[in-house]
Amino acid sequence: MKKQQFHLPDGMIYLDGNSLGPLPRNSIERVIAMMRDEWGQMLITGWNKAGWMMQSTKIGDRIGRLIGAPKGTVIMGDTLSIKVYQAVAAALRLNPERKIVLSDNGNFPTDLYMTQGLLNSLDQGHELRIVNPQDISASLTDDVAVLLLTEVDYRTGRLHDMAAITQQAQARGIVVIWDLAHSAGALPVDLAGCNADFAVGCTYKYLNGGPGAPAFIYVRADLQDRVEPALSGWLGHIAPFEFDLEYRPGTGIERMRVGTPPILQLASLDAALDLWDDVDMAELRARSIALSELFIKQVELHCPQLTLASPRDPARRGSQVSFQFSEGYAAMQALIARGVVGDFRAPDIMRFGFTPLYTETSDVLGAVEILRDIMDNRIWDTPEFKQKSAVT
Ligand SMILES: *Cc1c(COP(=O)(O)O)cnc(C)c1O
Repeated sequence: MKKQQFHLPDGMIYLDGNSLGPLPRNSIERVIAMMRDEWGQMLITGWNKAGWMMQSTKIGDRIGRLIGAPKGTVIMGDTLSIKVYQAVAAALRLNPERKIVLSDNGNFPTDLYMTQGLLNSLDQGHELRIVNPQDISASLTDDVAVLLLTEVDYRTGRLHDMAAITQQAQARGIVVIWDLAHSAGALPVDLAGCNADFAVGCTYKYLNGGPGAPAFIYVRADLQDRVEPALSGWLGHIAPFEFDLEYRPGTGIERMRVGTPPILQLASLDAALDLWDDVDMAELRARSIALSELFIKQVELHCPQLTLASPRDPARRGSQVSFQFSEGYAAMQALIARGVVGDFRAPDIMRFGFTPLYTETSDVLGAVEILRDIMDNRIWDTPEFKQKSAVT
């Protein structure tokens, strides 16, 4: 759809936009201009003159369009781990009689770690209950305070039914938080339509904001004034520049701010979001499915050594496809050495992301051709490719 608008290295087939999106060409100019004309010329006055302080809400609204969130319900800041903590803390406060946070074992570990850390510091007898993804519906019992799920499983791409689960959970008095890390920019999301209570997500994956780009948090409009922020930073205060000694939460979504926003990263993200303004999410989804279906078909035809680890039904998958292979790590290293970039998730998952803004049919076919050569000729079977590095 828009491959020309990204800087992609020559000869690389990039199938890892689900981990780190590539560099949009217009982000380069935007960040340079921001540094030169705003930071460089305005210095401290940039907070007002260049509107830096408004960026977190303005960009939140732009992301809102992609996830079915009305204006004033999404705000940027911090990392996704921090946003998970904020959301779980706020959700627990809305359900003070109950002690269980329910999640599934397909969730990304940091979501579980942050929750565990929060529950430990609360020290009020809360418990994190982790079940199999397929057992979520049956586990929505009356003792559950909060349901914390990631819509798309980071390993397999398995997709939860957000609307149905949200409805079932809320019928049981459970507050629902969705993590959209692998959903925002990957498939249509309708937070308002699903009546989700909270949602969080990151912007360096499908949204191409760049490494370390800030996360977002959504709070449904009618809940916002009831939320008591656990991370009560000064910029979430109703009047930060009065420098009161006592915290009073800001209005609406503003209270989910913590500290100083990362303006350079927001400039990069803002430029990246220009590419989304005219994207129809249903059309994007159709293209994503076409690409992943083609990939599965070709891999199964040419690489019988690999076993599909993602749901076969595209309606139950996000925008990534995973295959199991016992030497998956080495095989992925061999692929990367040949210019096909996917990634590996322990213990044996080779993961490939299909990001229709810049992935094309020729990329899919080219990737399978190289994968086939690596499999047929056991190119993965060398010490070089078995050496593990810090980030996989
Ligand atoms: C990528 C991802 C994260 C990453 O969290 P950071 O704080 O940005 O490092 C968290 N949760 C999920 C579900 C993810 O997919």
